[in-house]
Amino acid sequence: MINLSTNENAWGCSPRVSIALQSALNDVHAYPDANYIELKTALSQQLNVSTKQIMLGNGSEHLLELIVRGLILPHQNAIFSEYAFLTIPLILKNHHITTKVIPTKNWCEDIEQMVAAIDANTRLLFLVNPSNPTGTYTTNTQFDYLMQHVPANVIVVVDEAYFEYIQQEDYPFSLSYLNLYPNLIITRTFSKGYGLAGLRIGYAISSEYIINKLEHLRLPYHVNALAAKAASVALTDIEYIRKVREYTHLGINQLRAGLLRLGISYLPTNGNFITAHISNASIVTNSLLSKGIKVKSLQDYGLYDYMRITVGTCEQNELILSSIGQIISIGMMVK
Ligand SMILES: *Cc1c(COP(=O)(O)O)cnc(C)c1O
Repeated sequence: MINLSTNENAWGCSPRVSIALQSALNDVHAYPDANYIELKTALSQQLNVSTKQIMLGNGSEHLLELIVRGLILPHQNAIFSEYAFLTIPLILKNHHITTKVIPTKNWCEDIEQMVAAIDANTRLLFLVNPSNPTGTYTTNTQFDYLMQHVPANVIVVVDEAYFEYIQQEDYPFSLSYLNLYPNLIITRTFSKGYGLAGLRIGYAISSEYIINKLEHLRLPYHVNALAAKAASVALTDIEYIRKVREYTHLGINQLRAGLLRLGISYLPTNGNFITAHISNASIVTNSLLSKGIKVKSLQDYGLYDYMRITVGTCEQNELILSSIGQIISIGMMVK
């Protein structure tokens, strides 16, 4: 079975991380450092922020959950975009939070309408940048507009899970807004570019004030020692991330060209996945499954004519393209 449904890293993690994990196995009897100094220091140096501005999480989804658990009251509401990463509405629903879902504009998050939807009870505004599953991104001009127009009591949460794959020059450098806007939280993850999804580790960057609030919500050893070690080592292997980026972009181009040849259109993408426009996508995803390839049906998003394909290795990409080709040609014969 080839899994191209959950946006994992087709090239695994850095070999440096694998070696470090082997030796870390000797220490699994010991609790992690409860302050996670090694990883927080490495992140603070790379991001040029204070360690007090960084909060770790058992995956970045854990951080999204802590944000909802700790920063919004029952009578307050949260704003996010149509087709926003499903975990966000799920967490808000679990906490019985009123939500305002803003329609997208050309598949992009509609920043002006999101701002316009803010009312006296709005507390959280979620932006997924780049967005999953649409693959679109919010530009620096739009982001600037957002930060300038959001009242100081509304917390802006930017989910940058695909940050490592970004190529666009007008992608916002959100970290530079932290000094001016203490109400900004950025979440990132080691699950995608760094290839550590199974270990569950992500981080949030914000003002000391907000990070302090979040730190009080966590249990002492909320991130396991292997994950913390792996993440610290992963940050040192810059060459590996560079390669992952390069292979991913080649893979995206391969998928784009192949889909075009098959007459299938797709949404623009800025992550390690591509969302293809194919009518009755669930029929195709099921046929692919019977051929041993798993892709993401977007039914749960209400996108019945779309499916999301994670970039695989060159061979995997070839295989999925030829499999889609076979499925389509059989469909045409039946018609
Ligand atoms: C994959 C993904 C995440 C990552 O979640 P983790 O819990 O860190 O694995 C977060 N947000 C989006 C939009 C994603 O696609």
